[in-house]
Amino acid sequence: MTENLNLFTSTQEIIKEALSKLGFNDEMYELLKEPLRVLTVRIPVRMDDGTIKVFTGYRAQHNDAVGPTKGGVRFHPEVNEDEVKALSMWMTLKCGIVGLPYGGGKGGIICDPRTMSMGEIERLSRGFVRAISQIVGPTKDIPAPDVYTNSQIMAWMMDEYSRLRENDSPGFITGKPLVLGGSEGREKATAQGVTICIEEAAKKKGFSLQGARVVIQGFGNAGSFLAKFMNDEGAKVVGISDAYGALYDPNGLDIDYLLDRRDSFGTVTTLFENTITNKELLELDCDILVPAAISNQITVENAHNIKASIIVEAANGPTTAEATKILTERGILLVPDVLASAGGVTVSYFEWVQNNQGYYWTEEEVNEKLTKKLVESFNKVYETSQSRRINMRLAAYMVGLRNAAEASKFRGWV
Ligand code: GLU
Repeated sequence: MTENLNLFTSTQEIIKEALSKLGFNDEMYELLKEPLRVLTVRIPVRMDDGTIKVFTGYRAQHNDAVGPTKGGVRFHPEVNEDEVKALSMWMTLKCGIVGLPYGGGKGGIICDPRTMSMGEIERLSRGFVRAISQIVGPTKDIPAPDVYTNSQIMAWMMDEYSRLRENDSPGFITGKPLVLGGSEGREKATAQGVTICIEEAAKKKGFSLQGARVVIQGFGNAGSFLAKFMNDEGAKVVGISDAYGALYDPNGLDIDYLLDRRDSFGTVTTLFENTITNKELLELDCDILVPAAISNQITVENAHNIKASIIVEAANGPTTAEATKILTERGILLVPDVLASAGGVTVSYFEWVQNNQGYYWTEEEVNEKLTKKLVESFNKVYETSQSRRINMRLAAYMVGLRNAAEASKFRGWV
């Protein structure tokens, strides 16, 4: 039997198992197995050479029983409807685990921003907002950054939305620049959340981060800030990678130098001759492995060769269901994506709260609130996994689905 690499159907399987363990009936599964709404849009964009190119985009809203839906928009050539649907379901889980008053949403556009000019990216971003404007808004569905989107793109999208509504609407989108109502700490938030999960996981495994060997796959927003935080904590980052290759040094890499040289898409390995492959990187001798790039990286092919004792998933969906089983049997502590990468949406929530109240917090306040929420969330999932004797992923799904399921029930939907 070949393993299931479809993120959407493999997510459905775990949702089914988690709901039945929580004691919900099949009707609840029928409701939560798919997003309530998926909008496909076609966005014509005038390119710099004068031609028109029509891009395809999606916005999926999984469940809005708890509150407005929330989640990022990714710009990537491999975006597809199933992926966006799965990602919107994971946002429901993330919000449920942290206890945020949101359901899950997600958007994506099939494009390669690495080959586009700033003007083309701006026109595409504005066109996407016009195309989805009927179903989004500060109390409906709140977008944010994701793969290859950033605060500048959020600013264009917010400006377009505000023009359409003829209202200043900072709460329409999060991950904005500070001067446009962004929050202190939002850019680093995903990596902060991953760091908190690494600290808690190391405590459970009984080792200190001082001198611990860390390997990070991906040098984008999450991976690059994480490398810095690990360095600051006295851990040794021995491996990092980008889409083109990986770097390894058993004595620890010079992270400040790499951060200085990386481009805005997180590319840095192309500057070096002595590189290894992403495949080799994942199997390196280390204590902590953080997949912070793309999905389906740890599969039945390599799960037996992983040397780390802790894996913390900063990317969405980096480990398949079969690989999760193998890693659990091998006694590796795997902190699942829906918990480990929830720092971003948590500070997005703080940003939205600050926008709504028009009063802004300091970075210390944001960090303190984020730490409190994530430490609690980690321990809730960990304790569920211990008491139920199930892996951390299934435990996270159980914790994460409860709010959406109960809210749907109270509203009389099921
Ligand atoms: N795109 C991020 C995620 O997948 C952040 C979402 C948000 O801030 O709403 O969690």
